Amino acid sequence: MFKKVLIANRGEIAIRIMRTCREMGIRTVAVYSEADRYARHVREADEVYFIGAAPAAHSYLRIETILAVARKSGAEAIHPGYGFLSENAAFVDACEQAGIVFIGPSAEAMRLMGSKIAAKRLTQSVGAPTVPGYAGESQDNTVLLKEAERIGFPLLIKASAGGGGKGMREVHQPAPFLEQLAGARREAQAAFGDETVFLEKLIIRPRHVEIQILGDRYGNMIHLCERECSIQRRHQKIVEESPSPILTPALRAEMGEAAVRIAQAAGYVNAGTMEFILDSDKRFYFLEMNTRLQVEHPVTELVTGFDLVRQQLLIAAGEKLAITQAQVSQRGHAIEVRIYAEDPEHAFLPSTGTVSTFVEPEGPGVRVDSGIESSDEISQYYDPMIAKLIVYGENRQAAIARLQRGLEQCIIFGVKTNIALLHAIATHPAFQGGLTHTGFLDEHHLLTPETGQAAPPDAALLAAACYELSNRQIQSATDNPWQNLGPWRMTGEGYAFTYTYHEQAYRVALRSQNGQQDMWECKIDARAVGNVAYKHGKQSFILLTFGPMQVHTNVQQIQSAIHVNLNGHTYILGRRQPPDVDIATYGGNRLNTQKALTAPMAGTIVKVQIHDGEEVAAQQVLVILSAMKMEHTITATHDGRVRRVHYQEGAVVKGGAVIVEME
Ligand code: ADP
Repeated sequence: MFKKVLIANRGEIAIRIMRTCREMGIRTVAVYSEADRYARHVREADEVYFIGAAPAAHSYLRIETILAVARKSGAEAIHPGYGFLSENAAFVDACEQAGIVFIGPSAEAMRLMGSKIAAKRLTQSVGAPTVPGYAGESQDNTVLLKEAERIGFPLLIKASAGGGGKGMREVHQPAPFLEQLAGARREAQAAFGDETVFLEKLIIRPRHVEIQILGDRYGNMIHLCERECSIQRRHQKIVEESPSPILTPALRAEMGEAAVRIAQAAGYVNAGTMEFILDSDKRFYFLEMNTRLQVEHPVTELVTGFDLVRQQLLIAAGEKLAITQAQVSQRGHAIEVRIYAEDPEHAFLPSTGTVSTFVEPEGPGVRVDSGIESSDEISQYYDPMIAKLIVYGENRQAAIARLQRGLEQCIIFGVKTNIALLHAIATHPAFQGGLTHTGFLDEHHLLTPETGQAAPPDAALLAAACYELSNRQIQSATDNPWQNLGPWRMTGEGYAFTYTYHEQAYRVALRSQNGQQDMWECKIDARAVGNVAYKHGKQSFILLTFGPMQVHTNVQQIQSAIHVNLNGHTYILGRRQPPDVDIATYGGNRLNTQKALTAPMAGTIVKVQIHDGEEVAAQQVLVILSAMKMEHTITATHDGRVRRVHYQEGAVVKGGAVIVEME
């Protein structure tokens, strides 16, 4: 076995790999960029090396630099994790030339399966089913349009080199086909440097079901059953589980055998995943292969009991696969959710910043794979995933109950997150009924942010007021109370204070009992809500007690608002409302009211479809912006005339910059 392994990655996956290395007595080497100087994966490694500037192209994607670190540190092997260099065949070649083991497949198998077109042809050659479509040689517009008409609409244009949903376009009618084709090519070229596309019939309400495989150098190949990953946003998985709620043992065996057959035909070694979609008649079709460890691998680990990273290391070190197909079975049920720093109110765009508080859920059947701790940074440079919460239960129902509890226990302050969305999924009757498909979130309208906030419950308002009270007491403890109590009042019956929230919509009045500061008589507006005592615990924890009854909350002030987390919901209670707060946060909001359309995030203008003075219709696409390798459209919010387009194609713009001004 290796003595030392370099992990060419960051965040949760780097830490997850280190944990298994430690169990196997392998020393770990971490690499880090400028942005990750203080990152958790750096703190946890045995040896650390700086590799360059924050953008991945200057650090985590630099093959020569990473190999130089491997040589210098004496690492015998490199684990690429997922993303970054994990599916880069040139990196695999370079490792081989440097005499360092790449923990993954051969460059040849990776190249073959990295081309979706080639993988599809290979799959057909072993008699496994693929989605009907066109994956021929020609990239000619007229040929593709003719093929599209033959396949029929709706269909998908996909990038052969694709991944992460990039370069993929749904087309529902012939008319916009060529325009969508151009967009898909542009996106594919920008993301992968390869604009080759192919066409697939769009399967309606499909489930995404994938099979984990493991193969060694001696031709032994097994599968570790399936993961269902149907709950997706923009074709990206956010909830994954095993077993799939609808697979029968016969279908599982059939799909598992197909996966093994394809992998064998590819000469594949190490861990990999065959992705399939299942139509509503439970017919399955091969989609693509991922030639690496997947984000969602933990659900397989929990139900099969095998540590996939350990298996990867054993196989890479040249050992024979010690697990036979007969030894693989699923026990119980596991579900993973991906907790992202993203803003549900702004189209789920990444929400970067410092995570001031992160309380990880714990307890029976709960595993958290995370890359950060409280006061760590979510930067704009990398994937905004904060953590994966993985739960295990003896059956699906028990696992879902754990998922709900885990999400309710997970406290994150400082950045916006998708926890409320994940909680809404976990509690949805259709999810509980196993009625999942890739359009689940749209079908149940789970992506539309609640208009305005839900009214804060009394406990949230009281928690906010007690938090403010406790801060005031801490501040005042050593000083002269008469100078420091500020807006406190000493009344005949004791201290009293009133806090107002939400632009005075709620008034919380606390009056101390008999001049003591450990029991407070409370009123919300004019309504008496009883006597409360509180205790400030670890981090942001505040325990409210009403006689024998206890309410657990987490509270933190962020800028001018008090954030209260109660039962998994975060209520943001505005205190003072400086008039320009919104404008400072979302630069350009003031102009927005003057009909200015702004860039949702920093990026490059790739297409300007209108000119100054042009009449436009509501919903018309005016400008296309490319950011984080995806295209975003800036559309007219109403019928009107363009006063001015502020940028030309190719311009680099900041998030919030005014792109188009309407009259
Ligand atoms: P990527 O590699 O970019 O992630 P995939 O080919 O793996 O792209 O597809 C990602 C997701 O897109 C699938 O999980 C599924 O939800 C959807 N998808 C892909 N192909 C089809 C299809 N032919 N019909 C319907 N949905 C599809």
